Amino acid sequence: MKGTILTIAEHRQNSLREVTFELLALAHELGKAQGLESVCLLLEGEEQSLEGELKGWCERVLVLKAKGLEVFNQEIWQAVILKVMGDRRPFMVLFSHTPWGMDLAPSLSVSSGYPLATDCVSVVIRDGTPLATRQIYGGKLFAEVSLRPSGTYLISLRPGSMRVENPFGLVTQIESLMGIEIPQKTKKVFKEFVDTGAGEIDISQAPFLISIGRGIGEREKLEEIKELAERMGALISCSRPIVDKNWLPKYHQVGTSGKTVKPKVYMALGISGAFQHVAGIKGSPTVIAVNKDKKAPIFRVAQYGVVEDLFKIVGALKETLGG
Ligand SMILES: Cc1cc2nc3c(=O)[nH]c(=O)nc-3n(C[C@H](O)[C@H](O)[C@H](O)COP(=O)(O)OP(=O)(O)OC[C@H]3O[C@@H](n4cnc5c(N)ncnc54)[C@H](O)[C@@H]3O)c2cc1C
Repeated sequence: MKGTILTIAEHRQNSLREVTFELLALAHELGKAQGLESVCLLLEGEEQSLEGELKGWCERVLVLKAKGLEVFNQEIWQAVILKVMGDRRPFMVLFSHTPWGMDLAPSLSVSSGYPLATDCVSVVIRDGTPLATRQIYGGKLFAEVSLRPSGTYLISLRPGSMRVENPFGLVTQIESLMGIEIPQKTKKVFKEFVDTGAGEIDISQAPFLISIGRGIGEREKLEEIKELAERMGALISCSRPIVDKNWLPKYHQVGTSGKTVKPKVYMALGISGAFQHVAGIKGSPTVIAVNKDKKAPIFRVAQYGVVEDLFKIVGALKETLGG
């Protein structure tokens, strides 16, 4: 029987989360190289039918539909995944390193005894076992970790680590799971969903980011940059001091304690390039830095650098754009 990589689909408010497709991109990449089938496990409520969105992304979707599965509950998910792992013996199980995955993966690892690597930014398979890359010391170092030999390996992936655009054109079989008992009484109970506003913009998927740092000097200057971003079709992101000062909400922050981003173009304005910041932009192929200090570390990771007052550059760009 062909080995499998099992991806745990994550959904919220009746839609699949982008990170599910990132996991499927990783499963596809590893599966293609190793001859492993990419299988997605979707647990959903009776009224939901999210499986259609997974067509083309994996070879098989295992769907379990039941009352109580419309919202995440770690105890229920764990019971179901343990049963599926027992029946199917996947080579690898992929989780997202989101609050779902953080709640689920370690607990599953303890109860199943399978080794786990959390918060990975990339994974390869070498000599039949996974080698995962994780950031350590607050993002200062990338460490390659191997897992002890096992029948199944558990991996959680940091959101924003894989680029996803279109489905892979795979023929996807939808298989309904039957006869799996769902725990009726759980210690954890879902109360309500409170939107923190984090969904307003998603910098982790933006193709073009204009990112601001402490170098903008004062809050009032933000409007000027916002206007430029709008005209250039970019989203605004920022370094941590901008969030600490309450000039922008937390979901704009890039870095180890913010988001990992992978835009095609990342324009850093008045950002020094501390390692906690640049750890979040490693996936971006084109970094343009504007900083008036030619020794600023951001220039070490930038493909294009401008040593200048950022407002001169912002003004020149606006002038070039005209009208
Ligand atoms: C545990 C921990 C986690 C952290 N996580 C993050 C994180 O996720 N993301 C993050 O960003 N930081 C994070 N930090 C903070 C990080 O260490 C830096 O302090 C921060 O990134 C600096 O932000 P900055 O580059 O905007 O500011 P600064 O380091 O103050 O740099 C401002 C830059 O602007 C330039 N400048 C000033 N005026 C102008 C001008 N007019 N034109 C052009 N250039 C100008 C200056 O030359 C300078 O290089 C973390 C720190 C810790 C301890």
